[in-house]
Amino acid sequence: MIVGVPSEPDGERRVAVTPEVAGELSADGHDVLVESGAGTTAGIDDAAYRDADCEIVDRAELTRADLIAAIDGSAASEIGDGTDGATVVGVFGAYEQSEADLAALADRSIDAIALELIPRISRAQSMDVLSSMASLAGYQAALLGASEADRLFPMEMTAAGTIQPAEVFVIGAGVAGLKAISTADRLGASVRAYDVRLEAREEVQSLGAEFVELDLETEGAGDDEGYAREMDEEFYAAQREALARVVPESDVVITTAAIPGQPAPELVTSEMVAAMDDGSVLVDCSADTGGNCALTEPDQRVTHEGVTVLGPTDLAGQVAATASDQFARNVAHLLELITDEGALALDLDDEIVAATLLTHEGRVRAPHRDDGES
Ligand code: NAD
Repeated sequence: MIVGVPSEPDGERRVAVTPEVAGELSADGHDVLVESGAGTTAGIDDAAYRDADCEIVDRAELTRADLIAAIDGSAASEIGDGTDGATVVGVFGAYEQSEADLAALADRSIDAIALELIPRISRAQSMDVLSSMASLAGYQAALLGASEADRLFPMEMTAAGTIQPAEVFVIGAGVAGLKAISTADRLGASVRAYDVRLEAREEVQSLGAEFVELDLETEGAGDDEGYAREMDEEFYAAQREALARVVPESDVVITTAAIPGQPAPELVTSEMVAAMDDGSVLVDCSADTGGNCALTEPDQRVTHEGVTVLGPTDLAGQVAATASDQFARNVAHLLELITDEGALALDLDDEIVAATLLTHEGRVRAPHRDDGES
């Protein structure tokens, strides 16, 4: 099988296949074509790919590939008419895609495998790009909070007196939230966290953080995969009322609350931000789905009554080398699942394949939609 690795669109620093993973694919008998410069923003030059037995090619030549592995699957599908009939593995923004977008992929006979639809089951953990990227995002969010706040994170005993630790409050204790908690804790902050799912309480406490009880957490808030269900507006209003007591006591608030395929719940109001001390910071990890804070603007710095609100959407890309390494390993595990003796072998009865295959043999499947085939 010929595997193609494109350069990503401007602003994306990660690359989907690293030389290490490319070398493993070559050793398994695949030919790997890498677009010249594809790894530059992740600190990987063409020579490193050549050393891993890859062929460095112009973008147009990627159309020779049977399978293209990309971060941005939609952009990779646009490489040229020659990708018609190819399998493209990447992140497609499946929940935001219109019927027309999907139909266009199907019309070109592209088999699109959307990595963001990998189910959160144990067998698929090694392929779960959302989790591996969210973990890096949580780490980065904590570092960002630490560097932007005008208070030190750890408690210090100095000759001048005791410095109290910064108060960090993490809202949403899924993958990104738990990593933000552990990172802030390791930096010495006093960390509290909240999640709507009751199961999150133990995970928060096992990291040494305090779980904030709002008396709104319920057994029914999570599904089998550990994702939250969407609640009604009355519930969110009650949450905001309760959070209004906790947010103003915090020097750094990190928000990561998310529901798959839905806009992020708005949990922090501008009044809560205004009630925080001057010099405090809110880092909103959910900016790309609308934000958990009313003031969040994607990739902008908003200052409100002395408080900084940040909504970075490329947190994983900020550690592009590690993020590319993790992404490439996830892709390699998926390729093991969908190939047999060096050739593509999609088993539509496999739960992971069934959940991620957006288009197949000229037809739209859209498994993430209620009216999808599977
Ligand atoms: P996740 O599903 O693992 O965690 C989200 C958590 O939010 C869950 O534990 C859920 O129970 C909780 N939650 C949902 N509604 C809530 C509510 N009303 N109140 C409190 N908690 C609530 O998701 P994740 O993988 O950790 O991702 C978190 C966010 O980070 C997502 O928005 C994701 O898109 C984003 N993310 C951002 C970047 C970036 O660069 N900014 C990178 C990766 C992920």
